[in-house]
Amino acid sequence: MVALLERDGYIKSEKVKRAFELVDRANFVPEDKRPYAYFDEPLPIGHAQTISAPSMVAIMLELLEIEEDNKILEVGTGSGYNACLMACMGAEVISVERIPALRDFARKNMEKCPCKDKVRIFLGDGSMGYKAEAPYDRIIVTCGAPDIPPPLIEQLKVGGILIIPIGGTFFQELYVVKKKEKGIEKRIWGDVAFVPLIGKYGHRWT
Ligand code: SAM
Repeated sequence: MVALLERDGYIKSEKVKRAFELVDRANFVPEDKRPYAYFDEPLPIGHAQTISAPSMVAIMLELLEIEEDNKILEVGTGSGYNACLMACMGAEVISVERIPALRDFARKNMEKCPCKDKVRIFLGDGSMGYKAEAPYDRIIVTCGAPDIPPPLIEQLKVGGILIIPIGGTFFQELYVVKKKEKGIEKRIWGDVAFVPLIGKYGHRWT
């Protein structure tokens, strides 16, 4: 899987490659999905949620430009896979999940991750960020928001990077946002498809 992600240009840097080698995706999918763990596809993890395709994960991690000891907020823990990859890139990870059963699923999946001690998972509405641990060097949102939640900008350090899918409940554009001394600078990477961010600054659950 890692060789194909590198060949196809999704993995660009050594640090992202090393993290993919350290964290086995098979430990983060439900047992009946294990035969498909190394396919470049999103897979269901229950509760109408998914673990993203490995290529999408690699794209986001490269865009995030993670540096050693960065403090990172992840909104949408899901399986815990992305959180563990970021931890294995040397970051301290605070990950927020809104569904209790997925928080528990992620904690169990992480048991075999060599970098699990650098990840803390909290239950809550990540559209409000996680103020108790702010500010963050990086913020990554792994679900689609209608717009950039203001608390995420507030909780990002100046010079920090936020990666977030913005758009509807099925299709979005991936925004790369940099916080400046005054205001933000944003660019659109391209089209993506994520499950919705549900919450105060997200979509409504229907
Ligand atoms: N990063 C995950 C992984 O590595 O498996 C994939 C995340 S999945 C595509 C999106 C997750 O966002 C789901 O687990 C969903 O429950 C969660 N989510 C949606 N709205 C949320 C919110 N307001 N706060 C926290 N998590 C949220």
